[in-house]
Amino acid sequence: MKVLKFGGTSVGSTDSIKQVGNILKQYHDSKVSVIVVVSAQKGITNLLQDIGSWAVEGDVDQVNQGVVTIQDRHFQTVKELLPIKDQSQVLAHIKRVINELEEVIHGVTLLKELSARSKDLVLSFGERLSAYTIHNYLKHLGLPSIYVDSRELIQTDAQFGAASVNFKKSNENIVQYFDDRQGLPVVTGFIAANDLGQTTTLGRGGSDYTAAILAAALDASEIEIWTDVDGVMTADPNLVSRAFSLPALSYVEAMELTHFGAKVIYPPTLQPAFAKNIPLKIRNTFNTSFEGTVISKEAHTPDMPIKGISSIQFVALVNVQGSGMVGVPGIASRLFGALGRNKINIILITQASSEHSICFAINPEQSDIAKSVLDEEFGFELNSGLLDPILIEQNHSIIAIIGENMRKTPGIADKLFGALGKNGINVVAIAQGSSELNVSVVIEERNLSKALKVLHGAFFLSNRRLLNLFMVGTGLIGRTLLQQIQKQFEFFYHQRLLEIRLIGVANTRKMLIDPNGISIEDWKETLESNGTDTELSVFVQQMKDLNLPNSVFVDNTAGSEVPAVYQQVLKSSISIVTPNKVANSQSMQQYTSLKQTAFRKRVKFLYETNVGAGLPVIKSLNDLVLSGDRITRIEGVLSGTISYIFNSFNGSKKFSEIVQEAQEKGFTEPDPRDDLNGMDVARKILILAREVGLSLELDDIEIEPLLAPVCFEASSVDEFFEVLEGQDPVMADKIQEADKQGKVLRYVATLENGSASISLKPVGIDHLFYSLSGSDNIIAFSSDRYQEKPLLIRGPGAGAEVTAAGVFADLIEVSDFLVG
Ligand code: ADP
Ligand code: ASP
Ligand code: MG
Repeated sequence: MKVLKFGGTSVGSTDSIKQVGNILKQYHDSKVSVIVVVSAQKGITNLLQDIGSWAVEGDVDQVNQGVVTIQDRHFQTVKELLPIKDQSQVLAHIKRVINELEEVIHGVTLLKELSARSKDLVLSFGERLSAYTIHNYLKHLGLPSIYVDSRELIQTDAQFGAASVNFKKSNENIVQYFDDRQGLPVVTGFIAANDLGQTTTLGRGGSDYTAAILAAALDASEIEIWTDVDGVMTADPNLVSRAFSLPALSYVEAMELTHFGAKVIYPPTLQPAFAKNIPLKIRNTFNTSFEGTVISKEAHTPDMPIKGISSIQFVALVNVQGSGMVGVPGIASRLFGALGRNKINIILITQASSEHSICFAINPEQSDIAKSVLDEEFGFELNSGLLDPILIEQNHSIIAIIGENMRKTPGIADKLFGALGKNGINVVAIAQGSSELNVSVVIEERNLSKALKVLHGAFFLSNRRLLNLFMVGTGLIGRTLLQQIQKQFEFFYHQRLLEIRLIGVANTRKMLIDPNGISIEDWKETLESNGTDTELSVFVQQMKDLNLPNSVFVDNTAGSEVPAVYQQVLKSSISIVTPNKVANSQSMQQYTSLKQTAFRKRVKFLYETNVGAGLPVIKSLNDLVLSGDRITRIEGVLSGTISYIFNSFNGSKKFSEIVQEAQEKGFTEPDPRDDLNGMDVARKILILAREVGLSLELDDIEIEPLLAPVCFEASSVDEFFEVLEGQDPVMADKIQEADKQGKVLRYVATLENGSASISLKPVGIDHLFYSLSGSDNIIAFSSDRYQEKPLLIRGPGAGAEVTAAGVFADLIEVSDFLVG
């Protein structure tokens, strides 16, 4: 014999009740004998509770409306499920039950008081109406249904609201009642009665418990809890969209999971099942072919060190501390004794071995009473300063990771704290049961959703990581980057098990943030149609408020506005990837402080494309420095634009013509002087110098101007070109001079002996930089290890494709560091 329990959603609509009918018909046809336990229709228990409160407040309209809603819902169900000829008798019975409810509520309205006892009576109507409705529907299907009011079977004490079961009496009642009864009993869940016959309840969610009590009394072979999800999942699917269902759990694992908030089973349910070793199956009414989860004595899932993550959203944290606690026996027993006597439930306790403090978590609703109980119990200690004033902090949550295999697996705590730390989530308190079945951490409530996703990713999906991308700047580089991501998406998704999700995008005009992700294919149209006017501070604030794990902010702009927000972005534990050189070439103090913030927050700040576009310049330099090499000299041609100009300047064309050509081809800034003034190269060599560890400012760099000052005095680009023509002879002289010696001109940045300079140098055929072509960059690192021949990095140093690829590479580097 099996006991089947159907929850609120399973009996909450006509379609779902039909589904219940199908399941029961199948059992009936296969001659499996079952007892059915049902909950109230979804939402009805809450509504009854509200009606009770409205009655106390004297809000008659709300009360009446509430009662009508309950009546209508059940009438409607009956009308949809039963043929007309069978309806009237059932509707009349429902009406009688509703009248009884009205009488009870009327009493509450008159007294303006809802005792725990009356409240239980009020709540009992949900299960009574639901069970009666289903019983009639099953009869209509031709099943031998019998309506059973569980108040006649389950006897409890008089602790209304969450009564304790008198198992001896209840078991006798149950055994006797079902002794030779044939048919298909449909039993009201959740409700019971005390020895005076007064209605009690088993606590919210208690219908599961009813099923287990019946099953244990009757030695059932199995309990099936039919609900609206695919069994017990790795986390609450409402909070973690990527949660998946577990095939098996042990009783103790299930107890821990449910104690820490997994609402899918009411925790006391497990006890009777455990005691009688009856397997519990959690199944989905709306996905009947799915096996669901089996909870039994042993759950063999050796490959899963943890089984689930659950959480309690709101707890209050109580701190009892003071010098008077150290070495004084009996404090803890007085503390917990006083709380226990006052029925204050303790969810978690931690005590430091110094014995200076005890910290524990309670239900926030019990904060006031806890405070007054403790103030009274420790009045003497508090007055004499042996204890500090008792501190209760609100808005905390508990997250627990659970699994029996944790015991055998090292590294769990490391993963737990590493994942939280990398995402900027502070752990306020920790508790681990000595059984190593559960590690619980207390965090601030505002971080709960993020923490659940982070931990779920780290423990269950370490195979597939998610990177949440926020991108500012949709110019050539930004657009190209998104194209590249789109092209590589499938590869990363399947081969590297990395999902890149575009959550936010902004340009100078419009911005858009969508926590569900913006299509990378249609980002442009989506931004156009759904975006709002750009306000960088709002974009950053929304990004911070979303508080998504593994967030990366990509700045594809070139100006100084966006770098101004880097500090606060990093402070919010969000990594930054950028080709923008501004932040790193401002003051040394700013450069250092960004690096420090990234380090402290354990996030990445990557800017490989600051020098040499997609060439691995900064990474290689860092590798040398970090591995203990000493850099003695850096020499490089660092501007793709200037490189292009000098590679084309071989005497056959005038210098001004070449600059004009370069501008027309889009190789220069709109005003070519922004390239030719040497500042871009100066910023690059400055960044390299800083990466080596030198403390330099932009002013410290000696720049030999490429052009005479008059060029920079011209008031427009056109005027500049006119002036530049005047310089052609000077430039022609320079190149002829070099040519005579068999040399070419290169604009070379050098860092040596702690100082940096940039100058136009003639280089001969034996020089490494002689043979550059196109927009090539070249960087030569000389060091203790690379003394004779420098380490050379050479290749195209400009262009959207290679720069975007460099930004992409940085993104991949961030993802290697992610935690799911
Ligand atoms: P019923 O009304 O069938 O008793 P409940 O609402 O009481 O259903 O419990 C099922 C719900 O529990 C699910 O819809 C889900 O939102 C929630 N839940 C929380 N944690 C978990 C978990 N670890 N696995 C499955 N469901 C969970
Ligand atoms: N109807 C009750 C509640 O909502 C019991 C249950 O659903 O298990 O708490
Ligand atoms: Mg439930």
